[in-house]
Amino acid sequence: MSRLDRAKEKLAKTNYDALYVTSEVNQRYMTDFAFTDGSVLITHEKSYVITDFRYIEAAKAKVVGDYEIITPDRRAGDFLRELCRENHVKTLAFEEGSMTYAGYKSLSSRLDGVELIGVGGFVEDLRMYKEPGEVEKIIAAQRIAEQAFAELLPEIKRGMYETDIALELEYKMRKLGAEDKSFETIAVSGSASAMPHGVPRRQPIENGFFTFDFGALVDGYHSDMTRTVVVGKADDEMKRLYNTVLEAQLAAEAVITEGFKNADADKTARDIIENAGYHGCFGHSLGHGVGLEIHEAPGLHAHAGDMTLKAGQIVTVEPGIYIEGKYGCRIEDMMLITEGGAKVLTNCPKELIELDI
Ligand code: ZN
Ligand code: ZN
Repeated sequence: MSRLDRAKEKLAKTNYDALYVTSEVNQRYMTDFAFTDGSVLITHEKSYVITDFRYIEAAKAKVVGDYEIITPDRRAGDFLRELCRENHVKTLAFEEGSMTYAGYKSLSSRLDGVELIGVGGFVEDLRMYKEPGEVEKIIAAQRIAEQAFAELLPEIKRGMYETDIALELEYKMRKLGAEDKSFETIAVSGSASAMPHGVPRRQPIENGFFTFDFGALVDGYHSDMTRTVVVGKADDEMKRLYNTVLEAQLAAEAVITEGFKNADADKTARDIIENAGYHGCFGHSLGHGVGLEIHEAPGLHAHAGDMTLKAGQIVTVEPGIYIEGKYGCRIEDMMLITEGGAKVLTNCPKELIELDI
């Protein structure tokens, strides 16, 4: 079933006559075409890509789905009113997360007679289930990231700045075909590794844990991985910490399967870390969905209720232990949930690496 058909099927189960898509990432998802300054209108019958003349030619070539591609010949709100009238739209669902207050005011002043209903997660819920083509792009991005990392490790020398190492990793990903990094690269050593989202510093790498959290972008799709290595030698305490994170990470990957509760995946990893005595040192959730955005649904966390993992979802599994002011460690893979199972998409060793430099 096409994305548009899935959206229409979902729309049919609501009281809305149409969905007005204003989030750029959701517009891209719904049409397979990346554009700005436009919108997508999905009604039970016809659907429209509304874009301006700068994009019209590309849109005609690239939009996937049974859309009419149109350019407004008057103010956007007035144009939308016409479309609503033509399609007998009385209740219009809009994406409340991407509409500004000013945009809402302008829309409601122009659409009299149309009830506006703010909705959240309509398209995001569809995006959770990846099509084979989307999975391929995420895997392609992951292969680039892990190859860049494999090439980077032997090049790390004492005295190099964290910022330069991060830049080198990004450069390698671009050379290997990534269109960009998938988010700001984390490459933090020593005491900075204690911060889960530390920013690389313009200073030489320190001894001890060195955490890399990074990804590549391929055709709009993100990858996400974390590896922690050691600059110099790991002492017994560091080895115990690393192995606890690894044990928690492997245990979560072992239980994750179609139908398993998201909250229980988090608990599996968290219990191992707590039971090893690292109370309160794993201060974030176990994982998140990955796709057209680096963080998307579903989440693997304690508050996921009865939510279970479903085939087609791609999630990260990323436990960590952070000792404030001292150091920290995280290990992160991506997993694809399959019919009756799950598989790890990340192809990169996880045993402790000590950089003898
Ligand atoms: Zn990450
Ligand atoms: Zn992540």
